[in-house]
Amino acid sequence: MTSDTPERNTRPTVDHRDGGAQRRASAGGLPAQSPLPPLRIRGDRLWQRLLTLGEIGRGADGGITRLSFTPEERAAKDTVAAWMREAGMTVREDAVGNLIGRYEGRRPEAAVVLAGSHVDSVPSGGRFDGPLGVIGAVEAVQTLHEAGLRPLRPIEVIAFTDEEGARFRFGMIGSRGLAGTLTREELEARDADGVSVAEAMRKAGLDPEAYGMAARKPGSVHAYVELHIEQGKVLEDAGQPVGVVTGIAGPLWLSISISGEPGHAGATPMRLRHDALAAAAEWMLEVERAAARRPHTVATVGQLHLSPGGVNIIPGRVDLTLDLRDIDEAVRDEVEREIRAAADRIAKARGVRFEMTDLQRIPPVPCAPLVMGAIRQAAAAEGLKAPELPSGAGHDGMQLAGLCPIGMIFVRSQRGISHQPEEYSTPEDCVAGVQVLLRTLWSLANQGEDAE
Ligand SMILES: [Zn+2]
Repeated sequence: MTSDTPERNTRPTVDHRDGGAQRRASAGGLPAQSPLPPLRIRGDRLWQRLLTLGEIGRGADGGITRLSFTPEERAAKDTVAAWMREAGMTVREDAVGNLIGRYEGRRPEAAVVLAGSHVDSVPSGGRFDGPLGVIGAVEAVQTLHEAGLRPLRPIEVIAFTDEEGARFRFGMIGSRGLAGTLTREELEARDADGVSVAEAMRKAGLDPEAYGMAARKPGSVHAYVELHIEQGKVLEDAGQPVGVVTGIAGPLWLSISISGEPGHAGATPMRLRHDALAAAAEWMLEVERAAARRPHTVATVGQLHLSPGGVNIIPGRVDLTLDLRDIDEAVRDEVEREIRAAADRIAKARGVRFEMTDLQRIPPVPCAPLVMGAIRQAAAAEGLKAPELPSGAGHDGMQLAGLCPIGMIFVRSQRGISHQPEEYSTPEDCVAGVQVLLRTLWSLANQGEDAE
């Protein structure tokens, strides 16, 4: 059972930085956690693999297009699968096409530690969003493998199917499949050519009827950790290569119609107007102020259409959208109440009508203290400050929160650019992120059963 255990893994030690978890682990009948020897990942190999994967699906503009269940995504998964084998992992794909490399633990039956991200992309995207988390996790495991180190728990590296949702306009198919929350109706969603998810799966050699087989049993996953580029400017502003994610903000999307009264721009005195656009402008500033009063709330009006739309006509109607996010649902609810109250006030004062309807309402997901703690310690051991920050963008982890504790490590994005060919993180920053991931994985994968 533990015959493959290198001697240096079995020496019981107490690392006081980890507090009671290890003492409990020892008491629970499992070997205590081993400290990680000073290991360095191979930065050159990591970078070369990022470049190699970045050639698959590369277009004339330099952007990468790898939509789900396409030959490009297939080629990317095949390439990663070969690297997984090189890293000492056994490779399989589950019923929804998630690519999984397993690095066996000293206790093969113990709940696994999952690490990964995705290799699909948006149309003409960059080479880091997704691949860094997958290739980084492979590199972390390969580093352990080459050092002859085997953790207590198995580590599984995963490349999730369709995180971006670029093809079927709803994403995270792989992580929802793994979490057991994917539904049969969702497999009927169609792409621009009328091909359904189920049809695309069949074409890719998967049986859509068997999607339920991808679901993991409750208690079978100890933790999930994902390394990802920040896609924002917070770390760049802080001058730090790596950050600890506190939660994944859930978006609330509202569609808002404001009805006033169109009228002649010359013939209607100011006091007799019911200008829908002026009302919209006043409300948008209220929204901006309500979000700015909170540390992590963000609110964006991204679409606005006005009618009739003539130079000399008072706008009678405005249709706009609001994207409102926070990692704390209570805070998001509070901001929503404030901006609805502001709409009521403005409507009365200006004699216009506001109508708001939900486009989507996704709950935010806080990261788990267990995983955040492991990341914090890993970053400290690497001598990094690692500021804490929320993820404004959605990630696979939010789908897994019901299954296991989740956490994320962010790597600085140059100028915050993402979903474009110009997306870039430096080799040094990528290495720093993977070093933190390596230590985090080692720590999580050596936690005893009572830490679950
Ligand atoms: Zn991503």
